[in-house]
Amino acid sequence: MTESKKAVIIIGNWKMYKTIEESVDFINKLLPEVKEETSKIYLAVPFTLIKPVSDEAKDSNIVIGAQNMNDADEGAFTGEIAASMLVDAGAKFVILGHSERREHFNETDAFINKKVKKALSENLQPILCIGETFEAREANRTQEILEEQLAKALSEITEEQMKSIIIGYEPLWAIGEAVPATPEIAEETIKICRSFIEKTWGLAIADIVPIVYGGAVSPQNSKLFLNQPDINGLLVGGASLSVEAFSKIINYQEELVR
Ligand code: PEP
Repeated sequence: MTESKKAVIIIGNWKMYKTIEESVDFINKLLPEVKEETSKIYLAVPFTLIKPVSDEAKDSNIVIGAQNMNDADEGAFTGEIAASMLVDAGAKFVILGHSERREHFNETDAFINKKVKKALSENLQPILCIGETFEAREANRTQEILEEQLAKALSEITEEQMKSIIIGYEPLWAIGEAVPATPEIAEETIKICRSFIEKTWGLAIADIVPIVYGGAVSPQNSKLFLNQPDINGLLVGGASLSVEAFSKIINYQEELVR
């Protein structure tokens, strides 16, 4: 490990892609590429892949998690999945409040807050996603929207619990698009989120809560984001589906230190 390297978190989000065979093949190809990596590597996979992918990535530096869960312990909730079931299958973390869940499945911050609490109680690390629409940014409402999402989704979360949470800042106008936010916009907005965390939970917490950027990240632009001081990592959708692209993003510092 070279001292000049910055420890970052790279989170892949596979969304609704890949079969068991494809996912096992992916892990086998990714493993040799990430052996001595200083970055933390997280992979959020479909429910059906948690077990096989966790088994395949066992004893490696790749952490496997889920993309959603329900806040109930168990019950008559057809099609839903409980935190304890994710843990049972091998998940170590869960993405909560992704904009696609908010948009297509009408998830509210109040519901997301219940899920955050449930995940924490089951030792599943929550990755809370927040982000503003293009219209909100144009109307100068970015700060208001993000602070509201943080306040509501993290309502009643203690300082101690905050130590286990990762925040994903994902502007809706960049997710799944060809063009990401500029690194400067991402940095400036993440600073706003960090200031709110400081106001609510104190400086010591604001200093350690990782905030990652997501939205059209690629091997070509990842370095620009990760070189920003307040950006602690990346949430990668489309580019995490390819071993070549994902490992280039993970290994972004190799060429910097050679
Ligand atoms: C995401 O799924 O959270 C995401 C950021 O997707 P993409 O990288 O494809 O924009």
